[in-house]
Amino acid sequence: MTDLPRIPLVLGTRNRKKGLELAQLVAPPWEPNPRLARLDVRTLDDHPDVPDVVEDADTFSGNARKKASEVARTLGLWVLADDSGLAVDFLKGAPGVYSARYAGEPSDDEANNRKLLEALAEVPDEARGAAFLCNLALADPNGEVRLEAQGACRGRIIRELRGPGGFGYDPLFLIPEYHKTFGELGALAKHQLSHRSRAFARLRPALDRLIASGAMG
Ligand code: IMP
Repeated sequence: MTDLPRIPLVLGTRNRKKGLELAQLVAPPWEPNPRLARLDVRTLDDHPDVPDVVEDADTFSGNARKKASEVARTLGLWVLADDSGLAVDFLKGAPGVYSARYAGEPSDDEANNRKLLEALAEVPDEARGAAFLCNLALADPNGEVRLEAQGACRGRIIRELRGPGGFGYDPLFLIPEYHKTFGELGALAKHQLSHRSRAFARLRPALDRLIASGAMG
């Protein structure tokens, strides 16, 4: 099996920190799998000419499908895209699909976190529940979506930033069981608990079967 050719797989994101998480979760070292090890994971940094995809769908699933499909068609390669964000109970699911640009464009994590803290300033601790949501979509070189998976992770929005790790809203997102934010927990713990890791836990078996079928080359 190790002699079989590598399969190029492009991660359809320009968010470097998200791209790093995606790369680690496609074929994680704690779950060795010779078929997934055939994937030659690349990022859009290897393909700087690919135009940005307009994320105008009103669902995470719609945006993930659109990103995977458009980039795959442009490159003629397999592409895996993630669309993800934060849904805050008190804000009736906002910022949702607008998470990256909650405080306007261009996307700015610090400004987004400030805006979220202001929006929840008067909200008591017990009403600060939230969920990170993630949708993954894998498109074939013709742009057809062949696999999809979802994952969610519940937590609570605290009142000040805590922890240097992760990205986006991580320093505000408390995992109550651990008394720590994703910013404090570090990459390994985040990979066990996060919305993205849960989506990948569902995607990997299907991806494994797709490779085994020969469909990816
Ligand atoms: P996307 O790149 O359009 O999917 O935007 C995702 C946005 O949602 C990011 O810019 C973050 O603001 C937020 N987000 C998604 N996943 C995470 C995460 O794992 N931690 C923190 N913020 C996240």
